[in-house]
Amino acid sequence: MNFIPLSIPNFEGNERKYVDDAIDQGWVSTGGAYIGELEKKMADFLRCEDVAACQSGTSAIHLALVDAGIQPGDVVIVPTLTFIAAVNPVKYQFAEPVFIDCDDSLCMDPQKLEAFCENECVCTDGKLIHQSTGKQVKAIIVVHVFGNMADMEAIMRVAVQYGLKVIEDATEALGTKYVSGKYADKYAGTIGDYGAFSFNGNKIITTGGGGAVTAQDAEAVSHMRYLSTQSKDDPLFYVHNEIGYNYRMTNVQAAIGVAQMEELPAFIERKQRNFELYKEELADCPYCDLLNFREETAPNKWFYSLVIDVDKFDINVRELIAILHEKGIQTRAIWSLIHHQTPYEDCTAYQIEQAERYSAAVLNIPCSTQITEEEIRYVSAQIKEVLGEHFHE
Ligand SMILES: *Cc1c(COP(=O)(O)O)cnc(C)c1O
Repeated sequence: MNFIPLSIPNFEGNERKYVDDAIDQGWVSTGGAYIGELEKKMADFLRCEDVAACQSGTSAIHLALVDAGIQPGDVVIVPTLTFIAAVNPVKYQFAEPVFIDCDDSLCMDPQKLEAFCENECVCTDGKLIHQSTGKQVKAIIVVHVFGNMADMEAIMRVAVQYGLKVIEDATEALGTKYVSGKYADKYAGTIGDYGAFSFNGNKIITTGGGGAVTAQDAEAVSHMRYLSTQSKDDPLFYVHNEIGYNYRMTNVQAAIGVAQMEELPAFIERKQRNFELYKEELADCPYCDLLNFREETAPNKWFYSLVIDVDKFDINVRELIAILHEKGIQTRAIWSLIHHQTPYEDCTAYQIEQAERYSAAVLNIPCSTQITEEEIRYVSAQIKEVLGEHFHE
């Protein structure tokens, strides 16, 4: 058995052909036809008006915060159980994150979000003020963790009630959509005010590094595209009326992206099929459960999470990862909570409980689109064997 990686990119489509074409044409930087083509393909797929392609998911989130008018001292509500890139852009704006717990979907708990707004804040002059700091709460960043949709119906209800902007971090959830309920047929990233996507190497599609951002308001997308190109008002005479960023995607990245978008439906299908096989193979694994995705959705099933009842074993997730590595299987722990990280230690963290538990209990298992059925069976058998050896009453 070869080494089985956690998540590697898949370039079985037209990637090389389009990259060659971009290079042959000499358009390798932030100009060229592939950028617009990728934006058009994404807008068509997501059924939204416009999408701006940029350098990373992180820059997509930052552009959304800038367009949303987040300023120094503003409060932005964020999850603590996520990749830190979802939160760092809040600090780029010198704004203050407030950390909220997750629910069993690993995404933000809407009940705790509501409780925070209701119990810790007051409404004055149409503004939501965080009582203990006196700062204005302006926005929520919701992350669709591992391709699972957050409870957007409940979160949007809270956002509307308190007049908060919603930025969806859909970096892990390109292609995840609701199939029933209020948002039936709506894709992750197209429900809130803004949606951010990432094309980093381990995401469901990749451009090496890259991202994209969309918004309900097409003018907001135009504005973010403008900000991403150094806020260039006049291409010939270097007139700039706002502080801009060098956040635009390059044509070489976009060439890869156009080819990857052609493959996206097939990637999602494989992820879904592989998940079902893991579910069968791991069904009899005691005291561990493959985390399910939200009922009312068709998820992209980007990452698979095994939730382990760690009290039942004499090894922790970290030790399990090391043992599996020796057997040629790459797995990964879920993130350390952000409110415990040095730059965020002094921030408000509201009633964090579930996230602490999941942070110690989740193991991500190999999920590349290329993984074979034989490999899935091997990984499952090895996990069951190791856990069996370390089980205690
Ligand atoms: C990958 C990721 C990002 C950042 O995307 P980059 O393209 O790496 O900047 C942000 N948030 C989450 C939850 C991610 O998984």
